[in-house]
Amino acid sequence: MSETAPPPSERPHLPDMPEKIQHYIGGELVDSADGATFDVLDPVTNEVYIQAAAGKQADVDRAVAAARTAFREGPWPAMLPRERSTVLHRIAEIVTSRDRQLAEMESFDSGLPITQALGQARRAAENFRFFADLVVAQADDTFKVPGRQINYVNRKPIGVAGLITPWNTPFMLESWKLGPALATGNTVVLKPAEFTPLSASLWAGIFEEAGLPEGVFNLVNGLGEEAGDALVKHPDVPLISFTGESATGQLIFANAAPHLKGLSMELGGKSPAVVFADADLDEAINATIFGVFSLNGERCTAGSRILVQREVYDTFVERYAAQARRVRVGYPHEESTEVGALVHPEHVEKVMSYIELGKSEGRLVAGGGRPEGFESGNFVAPTVFADVPPRARIFQEEIFGPVVAITPFETEEEALELANDTKYGLAAYIWTNDLKRAHNFSQGVEAGMVWLNSNNVRDLRTPFGGVKASGLGQEGGYRSIDFYTDQQAVHITLGEVHNPVFGKA
Ligand code: NAD
Repeated sequence: MSETAPPPSERPHLPDMPEKIQHYIGGELVDSADGATFDVLDPVTNEVYIQAAAGKQADVDRAVAAARTAFREGPWPAMLPRERSTVLHRIAEIVTSRDRQLAEMESFDSGLPITQALGQARRAAENFRFFADLVVAQADDTFKVPGRQINYVNRKPIGVAGLITPWNTPFMLESWKLGPALATGNTVVLKPAEFTPLSASLWAGIFEEAGLPEGVFNLVNGLGEEAGDALVKHPDVPLISFTGESATGQLIFANAAPHLKGLSMELGGKSPAVVFADADLDEAINATIFGVFSLNGERCTAGSRILVQREVYDTFVERYAAQARRVRVGYPHEESTEVGALVHPEHVEKVMSYIELGKSEGRLVAGGGRPEGFESGNFVAPTVFADVPPRARIFQEEIFGPVVAITPFETEEEALELANDTKYGLAAYIWTNDLKRAHNFSQGVEAGMVWLNSNNVRDLRTPFGGVKASGLGQEGGYRSIDFYTDQQAVHITLGEVHNPVFGKA
């Protein structure tokens, strides 16, 4: 924990902070049609620090119309992939040159520790660079067919993509959708999370500077049930890429059904980290501490259920709890901070209610409330519960904060059963030095992504996504290109047409 944390009055002054957060529609910053706004809170003080435009149906209609016009009449969809790639590379360069500013804004708005926000801003630039290159490398497939025929696949942008994003690492997650949607020639309407609209408001300036044509990128701020809902139900938006809670995903799935929209869903998780007795305990402890407490625990792939083999269980719990108590809670802008402020008081209330519940469901061995010296704002101490029974709610439900449940197991079979015993299936982490067991366990575990003796490191070409209640479809590499394009098969005969002749005279 930070020993000399400054009081909230010493919050950093961010020189480029806008006066208010507006929508960006058809190349212009605009207020909501009805002038409505909502409050955005500083997670360190919970004071309102800015007002954001509260978009509703009329604003979404305007944004979709602008995006549709840009798709039908503008140059963007018709440009060569190489030409779009040049613009995307410029975007990446601008993001890189402003990574510190972006990170400061993100950290201020979301409560993420500054060093981690900086890493996320850099990853956002990488996303643009990656999709800029991929869209050029990926030529349309052409197949020679016997009899002098050729079939080829024409990849076409689909139209107006609706992008709906959550409040954890917002800028990076937006780049993850914006990169491939734009690279493939679609136009977009982005609806960022209402808790953290600040960094999204920076896209407009970046895109203008990079030369993205007007109307290609549109931004509507607002509440999920208003602006988000209007975007999902809009008949001129043929595809929705959504990242957020599983329950919201279910609702969006139902609301998009009447239009049979293309859907990509990256949803919640309660990922197991399984530590076998033969694992390197130092590495496993360091990685599982990072895996659940980095990004304030507000990480979809957090390994928030740790299963530990009985032989090393007591040692693991003791060492894990001691290390968790040393994790430095601090103000988000301080370089030494490891866990900052959670995003919003409503979210803190949810996390704290799980912590209270955990005190009756498991054995509290670290944290358990507000950290000392941080009684105001959204600070929560890294919290560890041991001996948590598998039916406990803190074992089953996504808490999305710095809270972890540890449970013992005896055999590999039992570990697999426990690992799969939730509705989620996003990620799994396995710690063992037995090669066969590591691979067998990966085969059996119900998770879209498995890390073996490894932390969250991921090449951008690798698919990202979950199974069960954690998602639908995958993003990453060519999967993103597939999602944002229609693949039209064209069949041509170059020689004579050799059909049997029906109705011959
Ligand atoms: P959320 O579902 O509450 O909100 C996500 C977005 O959806 C926000 O922009 C919100 O305004 C919007 N929204 C809410 N209701 C809507 C509706 N009815 N129609 C349309 N849009 C609506 O999620 P959150 O609390 O912002 O984010 C945290 C969740 O996101 C966690 O469950 C986390 O695991 C998940 N997440 C998943 C991944 C992944 O890749 N699998 C990544 C990050 C976060």
